[in-house]
Amino acid sequence: MFETDNGKEFWEDKEFSFNQNKKCEYFPCHKTEHPEDFNCLFCYCPLYTLGSKCGGNFRYLEDGTKDCSNCLVPHRREAYGTVLHKFEELKQLALKNK
Ligand code: SF4
Repeated sequence: MFETDNGKEFWEDKEFSFNQNKKCEYFPCHKTEHPEDFNCLFCYCPLYTLGSKCGGNFRYLEDGTKDCSNCLVPHRREAYGTVLHKFEELKQLALKNK
C-alpha cells in the first residue's frame, strides 16, 4: 500500500521519519540498549487512544491509565511506518466521535 518501486515504503530512510533530540532532558526517555535508534518523532504516543489494541507493551493501572513505560513501539526507528499502518484504526475511532 505504501510501497515504492524499490520494494521499500516511501518513508523508509527519509529524514522526516526519524528524529532525535539528544538535548532533551529525558533522552532516551525509555530504557533501550540502542539509543542510536531511539526515535523522538512521537514524543507522546498517537496509539494511546486505541486502548488495548495499540499493539504495544503496556499495563493498565488501577485507575485505567495505561502505563507505557516498558514500551518502545513509538520510539523505534520504524515508528513512522507503525503509526501509519494504524492510521485507519485511528480514523475509525475519530469518526465515532464526529
Ligand atoms: S506507548 Fe506503546 S503501549 Fe503505550 S499506547 Fe503507545 S504503543 Fe501502546
